[in-house]
Amino acid sequence: MIYFDNAATTQLDSEVYETMCRVMKDHYGNPSSAHAAGRNSKVLIEDSRSIIAGCLDVKPSEIFFTSCATEAIATAIHGAVTSYGIRKIITTAIEHHAVTHAIEDIHKNTPVQVSFVRIDKNANLDLEHLEELLNEEEKAFVIIMHANNETGTLFPASEISKLCKEYHALFLSDMVQSMGKYENILSDHGPDITCCSAHKFHGPKGIGFLYLNENTKIAPLISGGGQERNMRSGTENSYGIAGMAKAFEVAYRDMPKNREYISNLKSYFVEKLKLNFPGLIFNASSDSKGLYNIINISVPDVYNNKLLLQKLDIKNIAVSGGSACNSGVVNASHVLSALLANTGIPAIRFSFSKYNTVEELDTVLEVLKDILFRK
Ligand code: PLP
Repeated sequence: MIYFDNAATTQLDSEVYETMCRVMKDHYGNPSSAHAAGRNSKVLIEDSRSIIAGCLDVKPSEIFFTSCATEAIATAIHGAVTSYGIRKIITTAIEHHAVTHAIEDIHKNTPVQVSFVRIDKNANLDLEHLEELLNEEEKAFVIIMHANNETGTLFPASEISKLCKEYHALFLSDMVQSMGKYENILSDHGPDITCCSAHKFHGPKGIGFLYLNENTKIAPLISGGGQERNMRSGTENSYGIAGMAKAFEVAYRDMPKNREYISNLKSYFVEKLKLNFPGLIFNASSDSKGLYNIINISVPDVYNNKLLLQKLDIKNIAVSGGSACNSGVVNASHVLSALLANTGIPAIRFSFSKYNTVEELDTVLEVLKDILFRK
C-alpha cells in the first residue's frame, strides 16, 4: 500500500505504540481512585499533560483532554457562546465540518448571527473584511482555522489574533492540521482557544485536547464526575493521553528533520506533476503555498480523469478526493466549492508523512501516467 492520505490520519509511530503497550499493562487504575493504582494513572496523565504543555510552551492547566478535536471544538463553540454571551460568530466558508456543523447547531437554536470573511480563490483571507465585521459587533467570536485540511491553506493566525485582541473578540483557531508540524505554534499565533487530534501526527485515534488560554473560561459540554478540572467529565483515556504525549515528544524532537524531508517530497512531486501533466490545476496555490505535506490538484478533462480515486485504490494507492459522496451522488466538497471556479472536474489531495519515500512518489507518477493518458 502507498499511503498518501496523511491529512485524514497517520500511521502510529513505533515509539508511540511501545509506550501505549507499556502503559496498558502497567497503568490500569482509574485515575480518580484514591489508591496506589489510581495514583499511578493520575501521575501518568499529569506527566503527559506537562510534556504536551512543554512542547507547546503553555501552562499544563491550559490543556483539557478530550476524545478528539471534534469534541474540543464542540465544547469550545457551545461553551463560549453561553459563557461570553456571544452575539456574532465570524468564520470562513472553508472550515472543517466539526466547526461548520457546530456553528449551524448554534445558529439554529440561538439568535447568534454568523458572518463569513471573504476569501479569494487562492484562499487568501481578506483581513480588512474581518476588521469590518469585528467593528460591527462587540461580542464576537472569531473561528478561523490555521491550516485547511483539503488544500493545506495556512491562514494568517497571528494577524487574526492581533485583530481579535484589538476588538476584544474571542479567537478559536483550529490547529488540527498544523499541530505537530511547526514549533511555537501557540506562542507565535496566540489564539484564545485551539484543539488537537493526536492521530494527525502519528499518535493514537480517540484522543485530543482543548486548549483554553488561562484567561478564557467557558462552561463544559459534558458534566459528570468532574474530571479534567470539571471541563470534561468521563474517565480519562489514560493510554491515549500517554500515546499523544509520546507523539508530541517524537514530533518535536524530529520536527526540523521531518519538515525538511516532507517539504522535499512535496517539491519533488509538484515538479514531476507539472512536467508530466501540463494543465493540472494546483488548487489554492498548493504547489507553492500552505502546509508542507499537502498538494491538492484538479485534473482537467483533457486527461482520462474519470473514477480517478477508485483506479488509484485498485492499484493500492490511498489518496483523497475533493468530493463528498452523499447517497451515491458525488458533489465537490464545501471547501473546493468555495474556492474553485470550476468544481465539475475531479480533484485529488495527496498528503505526505515522514514514512513516505521518493520511490513511492515515482510509482504513483507512473500509475498516474497509465491512468490519465489511457484513451
Ligand atoms: N479540524 C480539522 C482541520 C481536521 O482536519 C479534522 C479532521 O480531519 C478535524 C478538525 C476533526 O478531527 P477529529 O475527526 O479527529 O475529531
